Amino acid sequence: MMAFEPQPRGGRSLSLMPTYRCTAACSHCGTLSSPQDKTRLDQAHLISAIDQAADLGYQIVVFTGGEATLAGDDLFELVRHATQKSLPTRLVTNAWWARDEVRAVEWISRFVDAGRTLRPGRAGVTSHRGCS
Ligand code: SF4
Repeated sequence: MMAFEPQPRGGRSLSLMPTYRCTAACSHCGTLSSPQDKTRLDQAHLISAIDQAADLGYQIVVFTGGEATLAGDDLFELVRHATQKSLPTRLVTNAWWARDEVRAVEWISRFVDAGRTLRPGRAGVTSHRGCS
């Protein structure tokens, strides 16, 4: 069983949306995300934003969307980069990837491992309810 530490409260947080694409297409979606939307932010810009947040004393990087996990390996690179900059991370996800226990543990392990590069236990996952 993996344990997550409480995320820091207060301070400034950087929210990054690597993609507007989502596995769902909720009528209430604030970003009008859907499987048809292929919009992606350039990875170099995302890394630069993390660097700037670290330099400016931000306290956490939140990955949201769209469904940030659809960025695949790029998401884990961003988590590792934030961790190397001593920034804890949080993922907001509709948890489409948790279809069964094996897949759920696999994804959470990847996320936590990426966030544990330098600072153990500094990664978190938040699920939100989509209508898929
Ligand atoms: S799951 Fe979330 S991001 Fe995806 S369409 Fe629904 S509200 Fe939007």
